[in-house]
Amino acid sequence: MERLKEEVYRANMELPQHGLVVYTWGNVSAVDRESGLVVIKPSGVDYATMKPEDMVVVDLDGKVVEGTLRPSSDTPTHVELYKAFPGIGGIVHTHSSWATSWAQAGRGIPCYGTTHADYFYGEIPCARVLTKEEVESAYEKNTGKVIIEAFEGKDPLSTPGVLCTSHGPFTWGKNAAEAVHNAVVLEEVAKMATRTEMLNPKAEPALSYIQDKHYFRKHGPNATYGQK
Ligand SMILES: [Zn+2]
Repeated sequence: MERLKEEVYRANMELPQHGLVVYTWGNVSAVDRESGLVVIKPSGVDYATMKPEDMVVVDLDGKVVEGTLRPSSDTPTHVELYKAFPGIGGIVHTHSSWATSWAQAGRGIPCYGTTHADYFYGEIPCARVLTKEEVESAYEKNTGKVIIEAFEGKDPLSTPGVLCTSHGPFTWGKNAAEAVHNAVVLEEVAKMATRTEMLNPKAEPALSYIQDKHYFRKHGPNATYGQK
């Protein structure tokens, strides 16, 4: 657990370093599948003073089992995603501005090119808006539920991120570091997609054989990218 706290701390510290968060916004968590425990950033603690031992340990019901600080207010969303997506090990949430712009526009990000296709298979979906009841009853938990709904019939590991309408992005990965990596790529892809539409409002998604070539070059049994 101490090792996982250190990992989650480091991953959280990467968010301001990559320009994905300001003030105390944003949070990273990771799950230990064996014990079913989640390590997550504490709520509202400054990045400049945050320490590995400040990380909070919660169970898959979101109940604190270790730590003196309150966990991130988004903890119920993280927990829902860990329960629904058994292949994931780390989650990131930010309000990074380009990705959040798409979320505020209520639009998924079409795959306009190979940067996107290398990491996200197909469109990065935008989860539906929450109803008044969903917001007023259990907002953070229901945020998790609409994300899960957006991935019905989709593999969350092939498309490791989502936009929440009127809110912002969540990304995930095999671990906390990979989830941060995907958050950085998502922000870059969102920026490029915005410019693509500015330059050509009629731009079409990349042709499917180009998307497939790039995605499967990096993922799956026939991947050839990188070193053996
Ligand atoms: Zn948020």
